[in-house]
Amino acid sequence: MSETIAEIKHVFKRAWNWLDSCLFPSHCARCGAEGPVFCGLCIAEIQFARQICFVCRKESENGFTHQACRLAIQSPAPCRFLSACEYASIAKLIHAFKYEQIAEAGKICAKILAEFACRVNPPINFPKYQITFVPMHSRRQNVRGFNQSQILANTIAAEFGASTVPLLSKIANTPAQAELNKDQRAANLAKSPFACLEHAQRKTIFVPKKKTEKMAREMSQPMPEKIILIDDVFTTGSTMKACCAQLFSAGAREIICLTLARD
Ligand SMILES: [Zn+2]
Ligand SMILES: [Zn+2]
Repeated sequence: MSETIAEIKHVFKRAWNWLDSCLFPSHCARCGAEGPVFCGLCIAEIQFARQICFVCRKESENGFTHQACRLAIQSPAPCRFLSACEYASIAKLIHAFKYEQIAEAGKICAKILAEFACRVNPPINFPKYQITFVPMHSRRQNVRGFNQSQILANTIAAEFGASTVPLLSKIANTPAQAELNKDQRAANLAKSPFACLEHAQRKTIFVPKKKTEKMAREMSQPMPEKIILIDDVFTTGSTMKACCAQLFSAGAREIICLTLARD
């Protein structure tokens, strides 16, 4: 299917979602019960993720990368990796957010991530880090109308009085990871599809507390040394690895990875 047809389809889908929400009461994306997009029962059944080491993916209390794992690999690795939920328990909510463009689903996702971030132990001193997010290719973002990871990043920034800075761009419009099997995903990311933004493009996005809209842009920023990188779902880890590699090579010294869910 050509991208133009896909774009037209998405425009109609968004229009239909809007009309549908005006005409019919909403239903829970998971159990189908009439009411909010994710009902209280389904929220209660969300499973919080066990934290793992970014490198070996074995259990790691509080998500710190094992010291031995950091020493064993040649390249720098994030010092900590935190995921809020087990993907299966929240998959339908994320789908409603990303693919059905239901704004309410996005708000619940953002709230879950923000509440998780508040409870992280030991806590993260968010204002000491620059918050950024995994980018989408501009074409894909135009089709969807938003980048879900940026919305999550803005929510975290608002919650902790920090700011968001776009640091990366997606240069290759690779197929969505969700459409590929495990081997195809690895091949898809063999060449880095990400690049760091030029200095002039790194503009701070300030987000007022409890809001996700950007409010103002400041002067462009130098590449920060301490970064929190946010994505919606961690699957194989190849996307986050590719992003971290670019950030480290551009001067980052410490990266914490934070995702809403882990598959
Ligand atoms: Zn439900
Ligand atoms: Zn490890």
